[in-house]
Amino acid sequence: MSEAGIVIVGAGQGGFQAAASLRDSGYEGRLVLVGDEPGLPYQRPPLSKAYMKGEAGIEQIELRAAAFYADHRIELINARATAIDRPGKRLLLEGGESLPYAHLILATGARNRPLPVPGHDLAGVFYLRTLADADALKGKLDVARRVVVIGAGFIGLEFAAVARALGHEVVVLEGASRVLARAVSPDMSAFFADAHAAMGTKLVLGAGVIGLRGEAGHVTGVETGDGTVHPADFVLVGIGVVPNVELAAGAGLEVANGIVVDAHLATSDPAISALGDAVAYPSRFAGAHVRLESVQNAADQARSLAHRLTGKVAPTGEPLPFEAVPWFWSDQADLKLQMVGLAAPTDIAVLRGDPASRRFSVFRFRDGVLTAIESVNRGADHMLGRRLLAGTPTLTPEQAGNEGFELKSLLAK
Ligand SMILES: Cc1cc2nc3c(=O)[nH]c(=O)nc-3n(C[C@H](O)[C@H](O)[C@H](O)COP(=O)(O)OP(=O)(O)OC[C@H]3O[C@@H](n4cnc5c(N)ncnc54)[C@H](O)[C@@H]3O)c2cc1C
Repeated sequence: MSEAGIVIVGAGQGGFQAAASLRDSGYEGRLVLVGDEPGLPYQRPPLSKAYMKGEAGIEQIELRAAAFYADHRIELINARATAIDRPGKRLLLEGGESLPYAHLILATGARNRPLPVPGHDLAGVFYLRTLADADALKGKLDVARRVVVIGAGFIGLEFAAVARALGHEVVVLEGASRVLARAVSPDMSAFFADAHAAMGTKLVLGAGVIGLRGEAGHVTGVETGDGTVHPADFVLVGIGVVPNVELAAGAGLEVANGIVVDAHLATSDPAISALGDAVAYPSRFAGAHVRLESVQNAADQARSLAHRLTGKVAPTGEPLPFEAVPWFWSDQADLKLQMVGLAAPTDIAVLRGDPASRRFSVFRFRDGVLTAIESVNRGADHMLGRRLLAGTPTLTPEQAGNEGFELKSLLAK
Protein backbone atom coordinates (compact mmCIF):
# COMPACT_ATOMS: atom_id res chain seq x y z
CA MET A 1 0.00 0.00 0.00
CA SER A 2 1.52 3.35 -0.94
CA GLU A 3 -1.10 5.82 0.42
CA ALA A 4 0.60 8.89 1.86
CA GLY A 5 -0.88 9.19 5.33
CA ILE A 6 0.58 10.15 8.68
CA VAL A 7 3.96 8.61 9.47
CA ILE A 8 5.38 8.75 13.00
CA VAL A 9 9.08 8.18 13.69
CA GLY A 10 9.75 6.80 17.16
CA ALA A 11 7.51 4.19 18.77
CA GLY A 12 8.03 5.33 22.36
CA GLN A 13 5.67 7.09 24.76
CA GLY A 14 4.95 10.05 22.49
CA GLY A 15 4.87 8.23 19.16
CA PHE A 16 2.49 5.60 20.53
CA GLN A 17 0.22 8.25 22.05
CA ALA A 18 0.14 10.24 18.82
CA ALA A 19 -1.00 7.15 16.90
CA ALA A 20 -3.63 6.22 19.49
CA SER A 21 -4.93 9.80 19.79
CA LEU A 22 -5.10 10.27 16.01
CA ARG A 23 -7.44 7.30 15.80
CA ASP A 24 -9.40 8.50 18.87
CA SER A 25 -9.77 11.89 17.19
CA GLY A 26 -11.23 10.31 14.07
CA TYR A 27 -8.25 10.16 11.72
CA GLU A 28 -9.10 7.48 9.15
CA GLY A 29 -6.12 7.52 6.77
CA ARG A 30 -3.02 5.38 6.67
CA LEU A 31 -1.10 5.51 9.97
CA VAL A 32 2.43 4.15 10.28
CA LEU A 33 4.53 3.99 13.46
CA VAL A 34 8.22 3.43 12.74
CA GLY A 35 10.43 2.46 15.69
CA ASP A 36 13.96 1.12 15.94
CA GLU A 37 13.49 -0.83 19.19
CA PRO A 38 12.29 -4.45 18.95
CA GLY A 39 8.90 -5.49 20.32
CA LEU A 40 5.80 -3.48 21.12
CA PRO A 41 5.93 0.12 22.40
CA TYR A 42 6.40 0.16 26.18
CA GLN A 43 6.60 2.55 29.14
CA ARG A 44 10.05 3.57 30.34
CA PRO A 45 9.27 4.69 33.93
CA PRO A 46 8.92 1.14 35.32
CA LEU A 47 12.36 0.23 33.95
CA SER A 48 13.96 1.92 36.97
CA LYS A 49 11.12 1.00 39.34
CA ALA A 50 8.72 -1.99 39.32
CA TYR A 51 10.31 -3.75 36.32
CA MET A 52 13.81 -3.44 37.78
CA LYS A 53 12.54 -4.78 41.13
CA GLY A 54 10.94 -7.73 39.36
CA GLU A 55 7.44 -6.61 40.39
CA ALA A 56 6.23 -6.00 36.82
CA GLY A 57 6.85 -8.07 33.71
CA ILE A 58 6.93 -7.10 30.06
CA GLU A 59 3.12 -7.44 29.65
CA GLN A 60 2.58 -4.89 32.41
CA ILE A 61 4.84 -2.30 30.84
CA GLU A 62 3.73 -2.60 27.21
CA LEU A 63 1.56 0.37 26.33
CA ARG A 64 -0.96 -1.90 24.55
CA ALA A 65 -1.15 -5.54 23.46
CA ALA A 66 -0.49 -6.46 19.82
CA ALA A 67 -4.21 -6.63 18.98
CA PHE A 68 -4.59 -2.90 19.65
CA TYR A 69 -2.43 -2.00 16.65
CA ALA A 70 -4.31 -4.30 14.30
CA ASP A 71 -7.70 -3.15 15.63
CA HIS A 72 -6.75 0.51 15.16
CA ARG A 73 -5.05 -0.01 11.78
CA ILE A 74 -1.73 1.24 13.09
CA GLU A 75 1.11 -0.25 11.01
CA LEU A 76 4.09 -0.93 13.27
CA ILE A 77 7.34 -1.01 11.34
CA ASN A 78 10.49 -2.08 13.15
CA ALA A 79 13.24 -0.10 11.41
CA ARG A 80 15.49 2.87 11.83
CA ALA A 81 14.57 5.97 9.84
CA THR A 82 17.72 7.36 8.25
CA ALA A 83 16.66 10.46 6.33
CA ILE A 84 13.75 12.64 5.27
CA ASP A 85 13.25 13.54 1.63
CA ARG A 86 11.30 16.75 2.19
CA PRO A 87 10.69 17.73 -1.43
CA GLY A 88 9.49 14.19 -2.24
CA LYS A 89 7.69 13.84 1.14
CA ARG A 90 9.20 10.43 1.87
CA LEU A 91 10.79 8.96 4.95
CA LEU A 92 13.82 6.80 4.17
CA LEU A 93 14.39 3.67 6.22
CA GLU A 94 17.54 1.65 6.78
CA GLY A 95 17.72 -1.03 4.13
CA GLY A 96 16.66 1.38 1.40
CA GLU A 97 12.87 1.26 1.74
CA SER A 98 10.94 4.52 1.92
CA LEU A 99 7.50 5.60 3.07
CA PRO A 100 5.41 8.41 1.57
CA TYR A 101 3.84 10.86 4.01
CA ALA A 102 1.26 13.60 3.92
CA HIS A 103 2.33 14.56 7.44
CA LEU A 104 5.39 13.38 9.36
CA ILE A 105 5.68 13.35 13.15
CA LEU A 106 9.11 13.13 14.76
CA ALA A 107 8.92 11.50 18.20
CA THR A 108 12.51 10.34 18.34
CA GLY A 109 13.10 10.86 22.08
CA ALA A 110 16.54 11.06 23.60
CA ARG A 111 19.50 8.79 24.25
CA ASN A 112 21.88 8.44 27.17
CA ARG A 113 24.67 10.95 27.50
CA PRO A 114 27.87 8.90 27.35
CA LEU A 115 30.39 9.17 30.19
CA PRO A 116 33.35 11.07 28.73
CA VAL A 117 36.17 9.47 30.75
CA PRO A 118 38.78 6.75 30.17
CA GLY A 119 37.40 3.29 30.85
CA HIS A 120 33.85 4.19 29.81
CA ASP A 121 33.80 1.21 27.44
CA LEU A 122 34.73 -1.48 30.01
CA ALA A 123 32.37 -4.42 30.47
CA GLY A 124 30.13 -3.94 33.51
CA VAL A 125 29.32 -0.30 32.70
CA PHE A 126 25.58 0.12 32.17
CA TYR A 127 23.11 2.81 31.16
CA LEU A 128 19.34 2.77 31.55
CA ARG A 129 17.10 4.01 28.77
CA THR A 130 15.68 0.99 26.96
CA LEU A 131 14.14 -2.34 27.84
CA ALA A 132 17.35 -3.97 26.58
CA ASP A 133 19.37 -1.76 28.96
CA ALA A 134 17.06 -2.72 31.84
CA ASP A 135 17.33 -6.43 31.08
CA ALA A 136 21.13 -6.23 30.98
CA LEU A 137 21.23 -4.35 34.29
CA LYS A 138 18.69 -6.63 35.96
CA GLY A 139 20.94 -9.56 35.17
CA LYS A 140 23.50 -8.01 37.55
CA LEU A 141 21.11 -7.92 40.49
CA ASP A 142 20.92 -11.69 41.04
CA VAL A 143 23.62 -11.88 43.74
CA ALA A 144 24.78 -9.21 46.17
CA ARG A 145 27.26 -6.88 44.54
CA ARG A 146 28.99 -3.53 44.92
CA VAL A 147 27.32 -0.99 42.68
CA VAL A 148 28.56 2.48 41.86
CA VAL A 149 25.95 4.82 40.40
CA ILE A 150 27.35 7.84 38.57
CA GLY A 151 24.88 10.72 38.71
CA ALA A 152 22.28 11.53 41.39
CA GLY A 153 19.49 12.42 38.97
CA PHE A 154 16.14 10.64 38.88
CA ILE A 155 17.34 7.50 37.15
CA GLY A 156 20.45 7.13 39.31
CA LEU A 157 18.51 7.58 42.55
CA GLU A 158 15.58 5.38 41.51
CA PHE A 159 17.99 2.62 40.59
CA ALA A 160 19.97 3.14 43.82
CA ALA A 161 16.77 2.71 45.85
CA VAL A 162 15.96 -0.56 44.06
CA ALA A 163 19.51 -1.90 44.37
CA ARG A 164 19.61 -1.10 48.11
CA ALA A 165 16.23 -2.77 48.67
CA LEU A 166 17.64 -5.88 46.99
CA GLY A 167 20.63 -5.89 49.36
CA HIS A 168 23.40 -4.47 47.18
CA GLU A 169 26.10 -2.16 48.45
CA VAL A 170 25.45 1.16 46.72
CA VAL A 171 27.65 4.23 46.26
CA VAL A 172 26.21 7.21 44.38
CA LEU A 173 28.72 9.72 42.98
CA GLU A 174 27.40 13.15 42.05
CA GLY A 175 29.49 15.97 40.61
CA ALA A 176 27.14 18.74 41.79
CA SER A 177 26.82 19.91 45.38
CA ARG A 178 23.34 18.42 45.78
CA VAL A 179 21.20 15.58 44.38
CA LEU A 180 18.50 16.20 41.71
CA ALA A 181 20.06 19.65 41.34
CA ARG A 182 18.58 20.35 37.91
CA ALA A 183 15.05 19.47 38.94
CA VAL A 184 14.17 20.36 42.54
CA SER A 185 14.69 22.97 45.26
CA PRO A 186 17.66 22.75 47.64
CA ASP A 187 15.23 21.74 50.44
CA MET A 188 13.97 18.80 48.40
CA SER A 189 17.53 17.81 47.44
CA ALA A 190 18.50 17.75 51.12
CA PHE A 191 15.48 15.60 51.97
CA PHE A 192 16.31 13.03 49.26
CA ALA A 193 20.01 12.98 50.19
CA ASP A 194 19.05 12.15 53.80
CA ALA A 195 16.49 9.59 52.67
CA HIS A 196 19.05 7.72 50.55
CA ALA A 197 21.62 7.85 53.35
CA ALA A 198 18.97 6.36 55.68
CA MET A 199 18.46 3.54 53.14
CA GLY A 200 22.16 2.75 53.55
CA THR A 201 23.41 4.27 50.31
CA LYS A 202 26.73 6.09 50.43
CA LEU A 203 26.27 9.40 48.68
CA VAL A 204 29.32 11.41 47.64
CA LEU A 205 28.57 14.95 46.45
CA GLY A 206 31.02 17.13 44.51
CA ALA A 207 32.54 13.92 43.19
CA GLY A 208 33.91 14.47 39.70
CA VAL A 209 34.51 11.11 38.04
CA ILE A 210 37.83 11.13 36.18
CA GLY A 211 38.09 7.52 35.08
CA LEU A 212 36.95 3.95 35.41
CA ARG A 213 39.42 1.28 36.49
CA GLY A 214 39.28 -2.25 35.16
CA GLU A 215 40.87 -5.69 35.06
CA ALA A 216 40.71 -8.06 32.12
CA GLY A 217 38.37 -5.67 30.36
CA HIS A 218 35.82 -5.52 33.22
CA VAL A 219 35.22 -2.52 35.46
CA THR A 220 36.57 -2.79 39.01
CA GLY A 221 36.24 0.75 40.30
CA VAL A 222 35.44 4.39 39.70
CA GLU A 223 38.07 7.05 40.31
CA THR A 224 37.10 10.55 41.42
CA GLY A 225 39.11 13.79 41.20
CA ASP A 226 40.39 13.51 44.77
CA GLY A 227 42.13 10.23 43.88
CA THR A 228 39.62 7.95 45.62
CA VAL A 229 38.80 4.71 43.81
CA HIS A 230 35.32 3.41 44.66
CA PRO A 231 35.34 -0.38 44.16
CA ALA A 232 32.61 -1.60 41.81
CA ASP A 233 31.39 -4.93 40.51
CA PHE A 234 29.33 -2.93 38.07
CA VAL A 235 28.49 0.70 37.35
CA LEU A 236 25.33 2.50 36.31
CA VAL A 237 25.87 5.77 34.47
CA GLY A 238 22.93 8.19 34.78
CA ILE A 239 24.25 11.57 33.70
CA GLY A 240 21.37 12.72 31.55
CA VAL A 241 20.33 12.40 27.94
CA VAL A 242 20.84 14.08 24.61
CA PRO A 243 17.88 14.60 22.27
CA ASN A 244 17.74 12.57 19.05
CA VAL A 245 17.74 15.46 16.59
CA GLU A 246 19.94 14.05 13.82
CA LEU A 247 17.06 13.09 11.51
CA ALA A 248 15.60 16.60 11.80
CA ALA A 249 18.95 18.35 11.49
CA GLY A 250 19.88 16.23 8.45
CA ALA A 251 16.67 17.40 6.77
CA GLY A 252 17.53 21.04 7.42
CA LEU A 253 14.93 21.59 10.15
CA GLU A 254 15.74 24.08 12.90
CA VAL A 255 17.44 22.46 15.89
CA ALA A 256 18.63 24.05 19.15
CA ASN A 257 18.79 21.78 22.22
CA GLY A 258 16.01 19.83 20.55
CA ILE A 259 13.96 20.01 17.38
CA VAL A 260 12.54 23.53 17.46
CA VAL A 261 8.74 23.67 17.15
CA ASP A 262 6.16 26.44 17.46
CA ALA A 263 3.21 26.63 19.85
CA HIS A 264 1.38 24.13 17.62
CA LEU A 265 4.28 21.66 17.62
CA ALA A 266 5.05 22.35 13.95
CA THR A 267 8.69 22.35 12.88
CA SER A 268 10.09 24.82 10.39
CA ASP A 269 8.44 22.59 7.71
CA PRO A 270 4.61 22.72 8.01
CA ALA A 271 4.36 19.08 6.85
CA ILE A 272 6.51 17.93 9.78
CA SER A 273 5.63 18.16 13.47
CA ALA A 274 7.61 16.94 16.46
CA LEU A 275 6.97 16.13 20.11
CA GLY A 276 8.34 14.65 23.33
CA ASP A 277 11.85 14.48 24.75
CA ALA A 278 13.37 15.45 21.39
CA VAL A 279 11.59 18.78 21.17
CA ALA A 280 12.16 22.37 22.31
CA TYR A 281 8.79 24.17 22.44
CA PRO A 282 7.70 27.64 23.58
CA SER A 283 6.30 27.31 27.09
CA ARG A 284 4.52 30.01 29.06
CA PHE A 285 5.73 28.20 32.20
CA ALA A 286 9.37 28.61 31.15
CA GLY A 287 8.94 31.94 29.40
CA ALA A 288 11.12 30.51 26.63
CA HIS A 289 11.63 27.43 24.51
CA VAL A 290 12.11 24.45 26.79
CA ARG A 291 12.84 20.75 26.32
CA LEU A 292 11.16 18.55 28.90
CA GLU A 293 11.73 14.87 29.59
CA SER A 294 8.52 13.41 30.97
CA VAL A 295 5.69 11.07 30.13
CA GLN A 296 3.17 13.88 30.67
CA ASN A 297 4.95 16.16 28.21
CA ALA A 298 5.22 13.50 25.47
CA ALA A 299 1.66 12.23 25.95
CA ASP A 300 -0.01 15.65 26.23
CA GLN A 301 1.90 16.95 23.20
CA ALA A 302 0.79 13.88 21.26
CA ARG A 303 -2.86 14.49 22.16
CA SER A 304 -2.59 18.16 21.29
CA LEU A 305 -1.01 17.40 17.93
CA ALA A 306 -3.64 14.75 17.12
CA HIS A 307 -6.30 17.40 17.75
CA ARG A 308 -4.60 19.86 15.41
CA LEU A 309 -4.08 17.30 12.66
CA THR A 310 -7.73 16.26 12.81
CA GLY A 311 -8.95 19.84 12.62
CA LYS A 312 -9.96 20.54 16.22
CA VAL A 313 -9.98 24.33 16.68
CA ALA A 314 -10.66 26.95 19.34
CA PRO A 315 -14.04 28.79 19.29
CA THR A 316 -12.22 31.55 17.37
CA GLY A 317 -11.44 29.08 14.57
CA GLU A 318 -7.73 29.15 15.40
CA PRO A 319 -5.87 25.88 15.97
CA LEU A 320 -5.38 25.15 19.69
CA PRO A 321 -1.82 25.72 20.94
CA PHE A 322 -0.07 23.23 23.22
CA GLU A 323 -0.13 24.66 26.72
CA ALA A 324 -0.50 21.79 29.21
CA VAL A 325 0.79 22.28 32.75
CA PRO A 326 4.08 20.32 33.05
CA TRP A 327 4.16 17.64 35.72
CA PHE A 328 6.41 14.74 36.65
CA TRP A 329 6.79 12.00 39.24
CA SER A 330 9.56 9.81 40.62
CA ASP A 331 9.29 6.81 42.98
CA GLN A 332 12.23 6.14 45.27
CA ALA A 333 11.57 3.39 47.84
CA ASP A 334 8.39 4.47 49.70
CA LEU A 335 8.75 8.10 48.60
CA LYS A 336 6.57 9.40 45.79
CA LEU A 337 7.87 12.73 44.55
CA GLN A 338 5.46 14.66 42.36
CA MET A 339 6.28 17.95 40.70
CA VAL A 340 4.06 20.39 38.87
CA GLY A 341 4.99 23.64 37.12
CA LEU A 342 8.50 24.83 36.28
CA ALA A 343 10.66 26.64 38.83
CA ALA A 344 13.77 28.70 38.17
CA PRO A 345 16.73 28.14 40.50
CA THR A 346 16.18 31.56 42.10
CA ASP A 347 12.49 30.97 42.95
CA ILE A 348 11.89 31.04 46.69
CA ALA A 349 10.81 27.87 48.50
CA VAL A 350 8.01 27.71 51.09
CA LEU A 351 7.60 24.54 53.11
CA ARG A 352 4.15 23.09 53.84
CA GLY A 353 4.17 20.16 56.25
CA ASP A 354 7.07 18.53 58.05
CA PRO A 355 9.77 16.68 56.05
CA ALA A 356 10.36 14.47 59.12
CA SER A 357 6.86 13.06 58.57
CA ARG A 358 7.91 12.10 55.00
CA ARG A 359 4.75 13.89 53.80
CA PHE A 360 5.30 17.50 52.81
CA SER A 361 5.44 19.94 49.90
CA VAL A 362 7.72 22.72 48.78
CA PHE A 363 5.92 25.59 47.04
CA ARG A 364 8.05 27.74 44.72
CA PHE A 365 7.33 31.43 44.08
CA ARG A 366 8.79 34.11 41.81
CA ASP A 367 7.88 37.72 42.56
CA GLY A 368 5.13 36.42 44.82
CA VAL A 369 3.59 34.23 42.10
CA LEU A 370 3.38 30.42 42.39
CA THR A 371 5.62 28.71 39.80
CA ALA A 372 5.83 25.10 40.95
CA ILE A 373 5.03 22.62 43.71
CA GLU A 374 7.22 19.67 44.72
CA SER A 375 5.36 17.15 46.90
CA VAL A 376 6.46 14.04 48.75
CA ASN A 377 3.71 11.52 49.55
CA ARG A 378 1.20 14.37 49.38
CA GLY A 379 -0.77 13.79 46.19
CA ALA A 380 -3.55 16.23 47.10
CA ASP A 381 -1.16 19.22 47.00
CA HIS A 382 0.12 18.04 43.63
CA MET A 383 -3.34 17.59 42.11
CA LEU A 384 -4.41 20.95 43.40
CA GLY A 385 -1.26 22.51 41.98
CA ARG A 386 -2.15 21.17 38.54
CA ARG A 387 -5.48 22.98 38.72
CA LEU A 388 -4.05 26.18 40.18
CA LEU A 389 -1.24 26.42 37.64
CA ALA A 390 -3.59 25.80 34.72
CA GLY A 391 -5.01 29.25 35.46
CA THR A 392 -3.55 32.29 37.16
CA PRO A 393 -2.79 31.18 40.72
CA THR A 394 -3.53 33.67 43.50
CA LEU A 395 -1.95 31.58 46.27
CA THR A 396 0.44 33.67 48.37
CA PRO A 397 3.63 32.39 50.04
CA GLU A 398 2.01 33.06 53.44
CA GLN A 399 -1.03 30.93 52.58
CA ALA A 400 1.18 28.14 51.21
CA GLY A 401 3.20 27.98 54.42
CA ASN A 402 0.14 27.99 56.68
CA GLU A 403 -1.17 24.43 57.06
CA GLY A 404 -4.41 25.88 58.45
CA PHE A 405 -5.13 27.56 55.12
CA GLU A 406 -7.39 25.44 52.89
CA LEU A 407 -5.73 25.34 49.45
CA LYS A 408 -8.98 24.09 47.92
CA SER A 409 -10.65 27.37 48.81
CA LEU A 410 -8.71 28.96 45.92
CA LEU A 411 -10.37 26.81 43.26
CA ALA A 412 -13.22 28.35 41.36
CA LYS A 413 -16.52 26.88 42.53
C1 LIG B 1 14.43 4.54 33.22
C2 LIG B 1 13.53 5.71 32.97
C3 LIG B 1 12.63 6.10 33.94
C4 LIG B 1 11.78 7.19 33.70
N1 LIG B 1 10.88 7.55 34.68
C5 LIG B 1 10.03 8.56 34.44
C6 LIG B 1 9.07 8.93 35.42
O1 LIG B 1 9.02 8.37 36.53
N2 LIG B 1 8.19 9.93 35.12
C7 LIG B 1 8.21 10.57 33.92
O2 LIG B 1 7.39 11.47 33.68
N3 LIG B 1 9.13 10.25 32.97
C8 LIG B 1 10.03 9.26 33.22
N4 LIG B 1 10.96 8.94 32.26
C9 LIG B 1 11.02 9.74 31.03
C10 LIG B 1 10.00 9.28 29.99
O3 LIG B 1 10.05 7.89 29.82
C11 LIG B 1 10.30 10.00 28.69
O4 LIG B 1 10.16 11.39 28.93
C12 LIG B 1 9.34 9.58 27.58
O5 LIG B 1 9.53 8.23 27.26
C13 LIG B 1 9.55 10.45 26.35
O6 LIG B 1 8.79 9.96 25.27
P1 LIG B 1 9.28 10.16 23.76
O7 LIG B 1 8.24 9.51 22.92
O8 LIG B 1 9.64 11.57 23.54
O9 LIG B 1 10.65 9.36 23.68
P2 LIG B 1 10.92 7.80 23.87
O10 LIG B 1 9.90 7.17 24.75
O11 LIG B 1 12.34 7.70 24.25
O12 LIG B 1 10.72 7.20 22.40
C14 LIG B 1 11.52 7.56 21.31
C15 LIG B 1 11.69 6.33 20.44
O13 LIG B 1 12.15 6.73 19.16
C16 LIG B 1 13.10 5.79 18.71
N5 LIG B 1 13.90 6.41 17.63
C17 LIG B 1 14.77 7.43 17.74
N6 LIG B 1 15.30 7.74 16.53
C18 LIG B 1 14.74 6.88 15.64
C19 LIG B 1 14.86 6.71 14.24
N7 LIG B 1 15.69 7.47 13.50
N8 LIG B 1 14.13 5.73 13.65
C20 LIG B 1 13.29 4.96 14.37
N9 LIG B 1 13.11 5.09 15.71
C21 LIG B 1 13.82 6.04 16.34
C22 LIG B 1 13.87 5.50 19.99
O14 LIG B 1 14.66 4.32 19.89
C23 LIG B 1 12.72 5.34 20.96
O15 LIG B 1 12.20 4.04 20.95
C24 LIG B 1 11.84 7.87 32.47
C25 LIG B 1 12.77 7.48 31.49
C26 LIG B 1 13.62 6.42 31.73
C27 LIG B 1 14.60 6.01 30.68
